[in-house]
Amino acid sequence: MNALAQRIAALIAAQGPIPVAAFMAEANGAYYASRDPLGRDFVTAPEISQAFGELLGLWIVQAWHDQGRPRAKRLVELGPGRGTLMADALRAARVAPDFLDGLEIVLVEASPALRALQEQRVPGARWAGQFDASLGDKALFLIANEFFDALPVHQFVKTATGWRERMVVTDDDGALAFALSPVPVPLARADVPDGGVHETCPSAQALAAEIAHVVAGRGGAALVVDYGYDRAGFGETLQAVAGHHFAGLLDDPGETDLSAHVDFTALAAAASEASVFGPTGQGEFLEDLGIAQRMERLAAANPDAAGPLRAALDRLVQPEQMGTLFKALAILPKGAAAPVGF
Ligand code: SAH
Repeated sequence: MNALAQRIAALIAAQGPIPVAAFMAEANGAYYASRDPLGRDFVTAPEISQAFGELLGLWIVQAWHDQGRPRAKRLVELGPGRGTLMADALRAARVAPDFLDGLEIVLVEASPALRALQEQRVPGARWAGQFDASLGDKALFLIANEFFDALPVHQFVKTATGWRERMVVTDDDGALAFALSPVPVPLARADVPDGGVHETCPSAQALAAEIAHVVAGRGGAALVVDYGYDRAGFGETLQAVAGHHFAGLLDDPGETDLSAHVDFTALAAAASEASVFGPTGQGEFLEDLGIAQRMERLAAANPDAAGPLRAALDRLVQPEQMGTLFKALAILPKGAAAPVGF
């Protein structure tokens, strides 16, 4: 058992079993705090091609135009990783100097290791540990790529005697193990057979509701891109990844990335104070924004890179790669027209 597993086991010994979500929060907090996982454990869209961040930046600028170019505005990114997406977005946004004029840039990041990288890529930004009330007093333009999948999920298992929450306990040898809560949980889902799993992410829903509240009241636009599903009944999706391979969920907490598919239906419902568009497959969304044309221009400027650029494009848009599993969801003020890409 690693040091974090021992610490969690001691907590369970003292206070009793903890929900899977509490375990996930502890493990991911430690995982991201100490390292840059991008490339080593997994690769994200902004690290695959600069075109991704550029197009998201232009999408934000277009949304700002569509709303009458509000002067008081804030650009927020949730979980900016290496800062690549934001750097690419801001470079593309130079086509609209008025947008950049007086723009406050806030990076929401919990990890000291990643903040240090972001400081180099995005000079002039300020940092926040979480999305809070300080981000609610101006028009809010927000992007989040592969952020919501890292938020802690609860799991409930259907048994012959009702739904029970999956907990983390210690076994006879003191090792971490799964067990079901003794007390049934009232869950209104008749469509699931015994043994089936229902996953929820209350922190993702609460966050979507907060963002929608600010966008509805102050104006702005939020673009959430992540891997996930848009229909009910998906079951269990929590996974651990290290070195581009799946690992056991409890095997090495803090050393593997824990993530779960994003429930876009639940996010959309939570954001109902605003207008929600999508989710749309990432491939369709990026093609609508002109990613193929952007890649052609990059290839024309650097013919030697034509092959890798083609591969990056395929990776982002092809249905069997990231094109359909990854989805984009937009949150706009009530009554707004459909934005580009939706
Ligand atoms: N958006 C980036 C990085 C994705 S990895 C990209 O596309 O490359 C997830 C990011 O979210 C990391 O920056 C991680 O440190 C951050 N993160 C994860 N959980 C968080 C939390 N609860 N609060 C704040 N940041 C978090």
